[in-house]
Amino acid sequence: MSLLVVGSVALDSIKTPFGKREDVLGGSATYLALAASYFTPVNLVSVVGHDFPGSYLEFFRKRNINLEGLTISKNNRTFRWQGYYEDDLNEAHTIRTELNVFENFKPEIPKEYQSCDYLFLANVDPDIQSEVLHQVKGVKFVVCDTIGYWIDKKPESLKKVLAKVDAFMVNESELREFTHESNLLKGAKKVMELGPGIVVVKRGDSGATMFMTNSIFSLPAYPLEAVLDPTGAGDSFGGGFIGYICQEDSTEEKILRKAMVYGSAIASFSVGGFGTEGLKDLEFERIEKRHHEFEELTDF
Ligand code: AMP
Repeated sequence: MSLLVVGSVALDSIKTPFGKREDVLGGSATYLALAASYFTPVNLVSVVGHDFPGSYLEFFRKRNINLEGLTISKNNRTFRWQGYYEDDLNEAHTIRTELNVFENFKPEIPKEYQSCDYLFLANVDPDIQSEVLHQVKGVKFVVCDTIGYWIDKKPESLKKVLAKVDAFMVNESELREFTHESNLLKGAKKVMELGPGIVVVKRGDSGATMFMTNSIFSLPAYPLEAVLDPTGAGDSFGGGFIGYICQEDSTEEKILRKAMVYGSAIASFSVGGFGTEGLKDLEFERIEKRHHEFEELTDF
């Protein structure tokens, strides 16, 4: 089974109450692809600039992430995001978003990726997400993610994307912002009217909830004492979710529920380190162990 991930690859500057890092590897597609790579090979489509360190390319290759669809622009700088967190680690404060290479990016999906089985449209300009949807054929399952930045700037473009995807993954506060609905169930139903039959709401350290037409599945977050940097938690969750679905090659509800558990397990490793450090050299046995711990946590 093949998985295509499209989204941002970035250089992030992050400050949390526990430290800070400058220009480290980040981006929605980065976290997505790294997390998914523990379940399945990943084909990545994105763009970086001339300033993107070769060591990060090497890191992707080592994790079985295919970079044929990664454009390296000679004339522009890599996308940059700068943000900080205060004591409430669920809320990221953005200081600066530099689109750089993404300003005029027209994705070209390599021919062999166009017939992918599973597609994750990670957080990026919804017009880029639409362009990708035009170029792929016969995909079995498409998930789309976004953030407040695009909800503010391009709500109509986002609605066009939602009309064509199977699942929408979004943060709790962003669902409220997008739907103007404070009740999550009502908000999820409003999104479903736009197209997707599944809405997965990420709720930070409160866990995640999956709304489907006839059912709801809710999971706590893995209880952790040491969260160093929550950047990428949502994208890592998305990567574990789609990675497991692709590995099992099924979108039956019981697989989707397990995919939520794997997503939560891998997100819990991601937030234990700065940037992508928590997703480096993770043995699959540790992910499995956390999956079992979730079974105990929710057994009644
Ligand atoms: P998350 O913490 O899971 O919401 O995602 C954090 C990642 O999103 C960071 O690594 C950023 O580089 C990336 N990011 C932030 N703003 C944007 C944006 N406007 N478009 C695409 N990616 C972004």
